[in-house]
Amino acid sequence: MTDTTSSEKPLAGQKLKREPKPQEYYDAIKARFAEERDLRLSYRPEGTSQFTTELDGKLKVYATDPYAEAEITRDPITDYVEVLFIGGGFSALLTSARLRQAGVESIRIVERGADVGGTWYWNRYPGVACDVVAYDYLPLLDETGYVPTRHYAGGQEIWDYCKMIADKYSLYDLAVFQTTVTSTIWNAEEKVWEVGTDRGDRMKAKFVVCANGTLTMPKLAKIAGMEAFQGHSFHTSRWDFEYTGSDLENLGDKVVGIIGTGATAVQAVPNLAKAAKELYVFQRTPSSIDVRDDWETDPEWAKTLKPGWQARRRERAMKMGSLTAIRVDADGKEISAEEKVRLQENANIDYMMRIHKRIDEIVEDKATADALKPWYMFMCKRPCFHNDYLPSFNRPNVHLIDTHGKGITEIGPDGPVFEGTTYKLDLLIYATGFEVQKTGTWNQILGEAGQDLQDKYAEGIRTLFGIHTHGFPNMFVMGGYQAPFNFNLTDMLQIQGDHIAACIAHVRDNGLDTIDCSAQAEEDWVQEVIKHRGKTNRNAECTPGYYNFEGEFNRRQDGNYNGGMPAYLEFLKASEQDFAKFDLS
Ligand code: NDP
Repeated sequence: MTDTTSSEKPLAGQKLKREPKPQEYYDAIKARFAEERDLRLSYRPEGTSQFTTELDGKLKVYATDPYAEAEITRDPITDYVEVLFIGGGFSALLTSARLRQAGVESIRIVERGADVGGTWYWNRYPGVACDVVAYDYLPLLDETGYVPTRHYAGGQEIWDYCKMIADKYSLYDLAVFQTTVTSTIWNAEEKVWEVGTDRGDRMKAKFVVCANGTLTMPKLAKIAGMEAFQGHSFHTSRWDFEYTGSDLENLGDKVVGIIGTGATAVQAVPNLAKAAKELYVFQRTPSSIDVRDDWETDPEWAKTLKPGWQARRRERAMKMGSLTAIRVDADGKEISAEEKVRLQENANIDYMMRIHKRIDEIVEDKATADALKPWYMFMCKRPCFHNDYLPSFNRPNVHLIDTHGKGITEIGPDGPVFEGTTYKLDLLIYATGFEVQKTGTWNQILGEAGQDLQDKYAEGIRTLFGIHTHGFPNMFVMGGYQAPFNFNLTDMLQIQGDHIAACIAHVRDNGLDTIDCSAQAEEDWVQEVIKHRGKTNRNAECTPGYYNFEGEFNRRQDGNYNGGMPAYLEFLKASEQDFAKFDLS
């Protein structure tokens, strides 16, 4: 989950340096940010509905799994398991590890892909890697004894690691793949969930964990004529290696286009640039690209790691998290809330101007360099880190087609059309991202008295800790809203997974049937979430993107908990020490 207000990378220092620039300098840049945002919004005022995830009919190919070796056939399943995970990515894997430690034997993963891994199963595009340091991102390193091979792990290594976890905790035994959960219905008489799937299954489970990920569904921009394109095309999360070759070796005589310049494109473009005869990059809004400080893990360093090293690293990071905000001025005096916001914004602008400077230093053609400059606050969009993306634009075969906020609105049989020019392509790659899942769930969920979760959330999301929701006993949501945003998502997921395992252990150890939060506990948490949101207008002032739902209005409760990770962790720990205190019973 994402939010613009909670991470302030440029502000890592506690003490302020005296500002060398006048406030007018910053105000002028802020005004330019606002202009660019308004321009972008004027082209696509329809917000998130400019995209579609309904990939059927002619668009079905963009969602079809190209990686599964063969479609499985099996009879529908009607058995009972203790814990069922909807989704087989890191949420399920790291929570399962804790459940095994608590003695839970009967665990089933139900997964749409043909293996575990979630994001790392689907995203195999050339250059795929994680932007979070691997020693933090890969969970359970203390438990598995694994040490990542690089500072930033590549996608293949991360996916292999997911499989290693599944093996270690015997999660393949009951897992079902190529299966999509379609309904989750509470059976009040038997006190079990009945889970229906697209394969006609009707599985029963005592506990259900919605572990279906936050950016799961590939989305396409609704572009007139896209079905008419006569060349080859695919979405980045469904990479067609048969067409491109496993090392893109088939692209040497191909003219390739890529729509989108987000985190995925930033990693894929350098490889496409080297492999394709010609590459056209269709840009609407540039990403901010900073240095990627990567290296191979030093085996000597790895040898020095003592048991429990990752847990200690996480603890240290958690403590540091609370020190990132500016609280005092250069003389150590407390500053007002308004002053704090002003200074934070100025520091943010300084950072973005450093990003601009880096572009000027790397990109040779001035017009291209200017077009690659992002005009918005840091963290309005997902920041990117890459050393080869910007230099790609110095290659003679790479062409930036900057649509300056407008985006591609038309595709003809030969390729994308912009300002009267048709870009004739052999291959068109959609790097247009994923739908942000607002509620933490995709399938139809009916709780006590047949209440539909979507109806319950019609006036806003209602949870305790983003995990429990009253009237849906023994159900847990991972990675959804009303929980904090953390750039290292697995850290957040581990905290939630630990809590879910503690809740399940509590039910088992006390011979209970169910665990649910009270309506009051839920209301208290909704108010706690609201209290911490909307301290600044930063989110609304940002250029549109998936972080702010393309500029759409968003209820205060429909977002992350911005009280900080340490506070969130304290809430969870307190609830586990005294379940009754949080009406979790
Ligand atoms: P994004 O949603 O970040 O990017 C989609 C891109 O498509 C944007 O550049 C968007 O432009 C562009 N776009 C949409 N419609 C049009 C149009 N009509 N014409 C031209 N361009 C258009 O998706 P990504 O797949 O890049 O990334 C999704 C997320 O996945 C990341 O933010 C990150 O959280 C995760 N990820 C992480 C990685 C990592 O750890 N390194 C790697 C890859 C992904 P605009 O900006 O104007 O909306």
